Amino acid sequence: MSIRWRLTLFHALTMLLIAALLTAVLIAILFVVMHLLVERPVRERADDAAAIVQTTGTLTARDLAALSEGDTFIILRDEQRGVLLQSEDVPPIVFEQDRLLLERVFESGFPSSDEIDGNYVYAVPVQRDGEPLLVVQAGQPYTVIDQGPLRLRIAPPGLAGLVASAAVVTILPAIVGSFLVARRALAPVNAIVRSVQEISEEDLSQRLPVRSRRDELGHLALTFNELLARLEVAFAEREETLASQRRFVADAGHELRTPLASILGYTRLLRDWGLTDPEVATESLEAIEREATRMSELVEEMLVLARGDEGLPLELEKVDLREVASDAVEAARIAPGTGVKIVYEPPLAAIDACVDVDRVRQALGILLDNAIKYTPDGGMVIVRVQHAGEQAELEVTDTGIGIPQAHLPFIFERFYRVDSARSRAGSGLGLSIARQIAELHGGSITVTSQPGRGSTFTLRLPRSGPPAAS
Ligand code: ADP
Repeated sequence: MSIRWRLTLFHALTMLLIAALLTAVLIAILFVVMHLLVERPVRERADDAAAIVQTTGTLTARDLAALSEGDTFIILRDEQRGVLLQSEDVPPIVFEQDRLLLERVFESGFPSSDEIDGNYVYAVPVQRDGEPLLVVQAGQPYTVIDQGPLRLRIAPPGLAGLVASAAVVTILPAIVGSFLVARRALAPVNAIVRSVQEISEEDLSQRLPVRSRRDELGHLALTFNELLARLEVAFAEREETLASQRRFVADAGHELRTPLASILGYTRLLRDWGLTDPEVATESLEAIEREATRMSELVEEMLVLARGDEGLPLELEKVDLREVASDAVEAARIAPGTGVKIVYEPPLAAIDACVDVDRVRQALGILLDNAIKYTPDGGMVIVRVQHAGEQAELEVTDTGIGIPQAHLPFIFERFYRVDSARSRAGSGLGLSIARQIAELHGGSITVTSQPGRGSTFTLRLPRSGPPAAS
């Protein structure tokens, strides 16, 4: 059952319950009031009549007429239960059924009352000295209340009927009204449902209509819109990630194709000529080894990046970055064929930071390798480690060939090389690995460069470790 109908039904039932309760209460009140209205005057008249009989021994026709005014009736009985006097309009049923009441009063000598077929009857004994006992009875039907000029006749069953019909008359509009109110109140829900049905994965830019910010449905729509906004961002990010992964796979395929083609070429050469010509064999095997080594380095670098993308946790420890830098510098110095001077003067005070030592050493190694690679023999590479507020800086400056301004925004991208012929030895992945390491630490890497004069790469890392969120 729809909420609309459930609300309507609930309202209708509540109204019915209220009407029934009201009826019951009204009837109860009316009973009490009627008893009060009927019984008290009857008792008063019976007492008045008894007082007259007490003094005069009987009731005159005038007494009788005065006492039985309205709907009240009066009966005077002797000790043999016989009727001595009676007013005109005594209901016959009273004579038939007042035996018990009379016996009670004659035996006890006290007043008593009874209800006889909708009539209230009150009997009072009258005892005069030495004379036989008399009983005055006064009565009046319950169902008739005489309120002077406003002769209002209301009997309980009639009243119940009145309330019931009033209830029916009010419940019907109440049902219709609550149905309309529920429909109107729930209309925005239908609008939301329709709008949600229209939203597809392709177009998350749509938003639900917000009629009012103050009611619950407005809140619902707002919350839904916030969810949509988050989904839109998440989907856009996912698209971006997928696109960059596709680019990466395409670039990786492209990069691997060159050494593979080379290896295949030399393998054929080896097969065709190598068996007869040892020189060709040596040359081919050397080339195959060179290309295979290059491929293996490339694959290794790709795996490093993939692991970084996966977001494996860093192995953080507090270290003195002066030592990390000095390790990297030592490793670069002993590398063969370096005709470049590497200068490193560590500061006097420790530069402590919470980092993954291996990864930071790797990033610094990449910067040093590049600096040496792109600096002609006789040039210089200077390594600096220093504080910069909350961050630690590792700086590698070279006096090498520099990078043209137009290329600077792209050199940290995967497989990007300024001049592929010139940097044939490189894969174009080194700087993207360095940037990934910086970002995993919540830090950054920047470059300034002047073609022909040299470049400076700066790796900045938060000294207290990556922010908790990352
Ligand atoms: P590669 O393996 O080709 O060096 P990188 O990602 O490390 O790849 O660097 C990207 C490109 O940036 C390099 O191809 C090179 O052209 C340029 N580059 C990087 N470092 C330097 C440097 N210190 N001096 C001049 N050019 C550099």
